[in-house]
Amino acid sequence: MLSILIVEDEQAIANLIDINLSDEGYRCTCAYDGRQGADLIERETFDLILLDIMLPEINGYELLEYVKPTGTPVIFMTAMGAVPDRIKGLKLGADDYLVKPFQIGELLARVEAVLRRSGKGEKQLAVGDVRINTESRHVTKAEQPVELTCKEFDLLVELVRNKNIALYRDRLYEKVWGEPFVGETRTLDTHIQRLRKKLDWEKRIKTVFRIGYRLEG
Ligand code: CA
Repeated sequence: MLSILIVEDEQAIANLIDINLSDEGYRCTCAYDGRQGADLIERETFDLILLDIMLPEINGYELLEYVKPTGTPVIFMTAMGAVPDRIKGLKLGADDYLVKPFQIGELLARVEAVLRRSGKGEKQLAVGDVRINTESRHVTKAEQPVELTCKEFDLLVELVRNKNIALYRDRLYEKVWGEPFVGETRTLDTHIQRLRKKLDWEKRIKTVFRIGYRLEG
């Protein structure tokens, strides 16, 4: 499930975006000021951030500095339709911007487009002879269907989307299970073992000492 952080101090707007994106199957988190946003950006991993510019505490431009090191795509939301503001946002590295008030349809289209461009919205993923359709949630290996549980599937997609990157156990767990990691690694480890077995990926999913796992692509 793709996760989106919404940083917006007008709660009614934040909630409206939350409801609509959740309906589309995204996992949403809201922050109502810049400080909350910065904390979440430092603590958690998101696939996309919707960032209002005029925010209490830390404004959207400043928040972008927190986002940059994470490489997470950003869509600016601004009430300021003025061209210089849009250009400033894009120059600072935002991936797109929305001018308020916007139609929900436009928001969804831009979210999809940015996720697609960043390689996160892809419906077809492939590693070796394994093919994954993230929409139908079908997995095949050498063109033979592979039956995975819901969490095994989500874990597989997370590994594939971060191919060749060592993933921390806690981050991986929180991403797939959507709840805080409290130090119990057995659930994650058994799911990894099952994936290795079902996909014959004993060699492909590496255990990274003291960190977690890495899928070699
Ligand atoms: Ca605002």
